[in-house]
Amino acid sequence: MADRNFLDWPFFEPRHRALASELQRWATENLSRSHDHDVDAACSKIVRQLGAAGWLKHAVAGKAYGGLEDSIDTRAICILRETLAYQSGLADFSFAMQGLGSGAISLFGTPEQKAAYLPRVADGIAIAAFALSEPGAGSDAASLQCEARADARGFVLNGEKTWLSNGGIADFYVVFARTGEAPGSRGISAFIVEPATPGFAVAERIHIMAPHPLARISFTNCLLSSSQRLGAPGQGFKVAMATLDVFRTSVAAAALGFARRAFAEALRRATTRKMFGQSLADFQITQAKLAEMATSIDAAALLTYRSAWLRDQGRRVTVEAAMAKMTATETAQKVIDAAVQIFGAQGVAAGEIVEQLYREIRPLRIYEGATEVQQLVIARGILKSFQENQPVHDANS
Ligand SMILES: Cc1cc2nc3c(=O)[nH]c(=O)nc-3n(C[C@H](O)[C@H](O)[C@H](O)COP(=O)(O)OP(=O)(O)OC[C@H]3O[C@@H](n4cnc5c(N)ncnc54)[C@H](O)[C@@H]3O)c2cc1C
Repeated sequence: MADRNFLDWPFFEPRHRALASELQRWATENLSRSHDHDVDAACSKIVRQLGAAGWLKHAVAGKAYGGLEDSIDTRAICILRETLAYQSGLADFSFAMQGLGSGAISLFGTPEQKAAYLPRVADGIAIAAFALSEPGAGSDAASLQCEARADARGFVLNGEKTWLSNGGIADFYVVFARTGEAPGSRGISAFIVEPATPGFAVAERIHIMAPHPLARISFTNCLLSSSQRLGAPGQGFKVAMATLDVFRTSVAAAALGFARRAFAEALRRATTRKMFGQSLADFQITQAKLAEMATSIDAAALLTYRSAWLRDQGRRVTVEAAMAKMTATETAQKVIDAAVQIFGAQGVAAGEIVEQLYREIRPLRIYEGATEVQQLVIARGILKSFQENQPVHDANS
């Protein structure tokens, strides 16, 4: 990676610096941006590679269940995503989904559920998926309609989930469905569902601008046992939000990896491309662009690693994670766009690294809470703490 000076920042401990340099060496030797056109096969292969090399141990919590630590080390997750994203968008995706897809089990699973899934996730043998979004419920996830009706045998699951990463190749899905204990977000529970369950079907494979396995899944009278419920009844929305809370900062880190790669590519191109008797980097207009890119990357990195560090201190980071995700993803989009401009026509040539990055960054501004949703979260948090800190006025004074 071009600039690793950020690792000197006080947010990190020696183990994070060691992880970063070991992973960078491994990623450079083992990963590349171009991969097989069969994205399912490419993704399954990367998950196995990540598992065999031991990197997925960071994605699960619990030493007894294949994890490196008993809780998730957010800074480690961020370093992993940033470094993988720098080298390969698909590797970052594969790592992130093993964490997000199994995160609810790490946080809320019974010992039996943890033992059944987490060691296989950590070894890269089982592929995980997180099933919250529905055709009618994306940003407004609490309005989901998928239903798990309790009956004498357990639960009967009906409905649809869409935009599921790893949809079609996952070995298990953490599914959020309405169980009706209370209206709205308090009447949802989480379940672990395996694709062999009768009534489970891949309704549609979805193809997007930066290919990765994605699908719409339907459930028709899928019978689930009570032991498949994850967390307490009616607490499913909390389970989903707590899982997203762990991984939202890591989306910012992935965006940073994309931005840093685009910046490195832009520097190389600007210093070697000759025009008007000098190099592109000799023009002040180019230098202004490079200065903007470098500064905005550092600003996004400071927000990202502040959020990761705070979370590792046991603090709530709802606002800080939203600031990091919004800033890093929006910044990365601008940095990558500037890199494409510096490359000229070569920047839009299919297969060029900056062209791939241009496609890879776009979904990050939408998934796990679009930028507008992050703005609401930040404003809500700020207004709440402003109101809580107002002096109480005596009505008689
Ligand atoms: C590549 C990719 C992978 C994904 N993987 C998963 C997955 O693994 N599991 C899963 O459950 N889901 C997944 N999703 C779905 C993702 O979480 C949703 O796309 C996201 O929550 C937005 O929902 P939506 O697409 O329905 O957009 P909508 O909810 O229809 O929102 C559309 C747009 O409206 C704007 N908007 C939203 N809220 C507000 C507001 N309050 N005020 C003003 N504007 C607003 C935003 O710009 C937003 O982009 C994935 C999506 C993508 C693109």
